[in-house]
Amino acid sequence: MITPQTVDVPLIFERSVPGRQGVLPPACDVPILPLQDMLGAENLRSEPPRLPEVSELDTVRHYTRLSQRNYGIDTGFYPLGSCTMKYNPRINEKVAALAGFTHVHPLQPERTAQGALRILFELQEDLKAITGFDTLCLQPVAGAQGELLSLMTIKAYHASQGEGEKRKVVLVPDSAHGTNPASAALCGYTVRSIPTDAKGNTDLNALQEYLSDEVAAMMLTNPSTLGLFDQNAQKACEMVHAVGGFVFCDGANMNALVGVVRPAEIGFDCMHLNLHKTFSTPHGGGGPGAGAIGVSEKLAPFLPTPLVIQHGDGSFGFQTNLPHSVGKVHAFYGNFLNLLRAYVYIRAYGGENLRNIGEYAVLNANYMLARIREVFPPAIDRFCMHECIVTAQSLKTKHGVRAFDVAKRLLDYGFHPPTMYFPLIVPECLMIEPTESESRQTLDMFANALLTIAEEAETNPDLLKNAPHHMPVRRLDEASAAKTLTLRWQGEVVYPSEVPACAC
Ligand SMILES: *Cc1c(COP(=O)(O)O)cnc(C)c1O
Repeated sequence: MITPQTVDVPLIFERSVPGRQGVLPPACDVPILPLQDMLGAENLRSEPPRLPEVSELDTVRHYTRLSQRNYGIDTGFYPLGSCTMKYNPRINEKVAALAGFTHVHPLQPERTAQGALRILFELQEDLKAITGFDTLCLQPVAGAQGELLSLMTIKAYHASQGEGEKRKVVLVPDSAHGTNPASAALCGYTVRSIPTDAKGNTDLNALQEYLSDEVAAMMLTNPSTLGLFDQNAQKACEMVHAVGGFVFCDGANMNALVGVVRPAEIGFDCMHLNLHKTFSTPHGGGGPGAGAIGVSEKLAPFLPTPLVIQHGDGSFGFQTNLPHSVGKVHAFYGNFLNLLRAYVYIRAYGGENLRNIGEYAVLNANYMLARIREVFPPAIDRFCMHECIVTAQSLKTKHGVRAFDVAKRLLDYGFHPPTMYFPLIVPECLMIEPTESESRQTLDMFANALLTIAEEAETNPDLLKNAPHHMPVRRLDEASAAKTLTLRWQGEVVYPSEVPACAC
């Protein structure tokens, strides 16, 4: 089958024909000075740059084709667990594109940017109401940066108590996202891994053994990356507090809790939010993010500046005088346009409706689990939260087919695969996060594809092991692809007649 997706698209360089032009500028009506007079001889290239020489039509077709190969939430279901690839309502984009927002400058006097400041302030207030924390900081631009900043404030607090040297351990559950131990290590801590119990909660007996006055903090994800509400979270917070440690909540999974649970009330001292996950800002591919943090009263004096505040006269401005601040983690106050998108998303829903996000996200994940559990059973048999973590272990045992093969075959059915092999403690793991924005029909199509693939595993396992079959490229050697990156065209020009038209 030849589709725009399967036809091999030549590189723009391979479309190049010497002398071909996209535009014909009018003849120059002023004297043209020699380049060396205008730029200085030392600034001139010794040879012309190797740029593709193509017509406008070639260019338009080339980039339009490439854009059609892109897979995103706007083209299909994207159940990449832990990443919360929900639909991003267009109103967010419309507002973020308004000139009044795109042209505002971070160094502009406060009194001329009252609208923008008010949005940041109100977003802080909304996030306080959602999380239950006393103070919000919008500066971090990724979840991982929010984790790091939270730990930095904890470290600064302990140092202020004369315990900086002593408290050198951060406890992280074995199910945690890799950024947790990475952030702790980057902050100079020794990381200790806490096991998960048979019900998928933090193992409190094990935790007890690790507790001492060396513990600076514990990083807990709730719901955990097993997609389960950690029923021991409150107890774990009490136990860590009892030895003088803080508990950080990895809030990347807030989609399950929005409008239902305020993490501060569980006993957490600080948390990060992934505004680009829970609050709909488009993400993926390493684009700009927003990893706001909320902290308790004890940690607030150590936050970065500037914080956005409201003055006594009702106007908005920056608080810059925080003598104990840990310093900046990003310029100014973070990614303003991402923060704006999150604000619009929250305001478009409004208070009461926010609760629907969490409830529908949980309902959708449980529906998915119910549809597939006969073949892909849950790693731990409980109602799940916003994502279901299942295992393909039986396909591996019976037919030698791995979770990886299932994921590759899903591409042929037109779906983005779920997250695989995370959390690390689940064998042949598939982590499916439908999000609240998907319809029952879409969930059924995906569940049906998974069930069909399980049948194929039985009748024709090689079909899966060699998948995908209908993509522009077949199975890649992922290790080489990751280790030997070729990101820039460096080859010789091949003219179109020599390029195979179709690689399918
Ligand atoms: C996505 C995620 C993070 C990290 O967030 P980034 O914005 O990618 O840095 C941390 N923890 C969990 C559980 C996540 O899903």
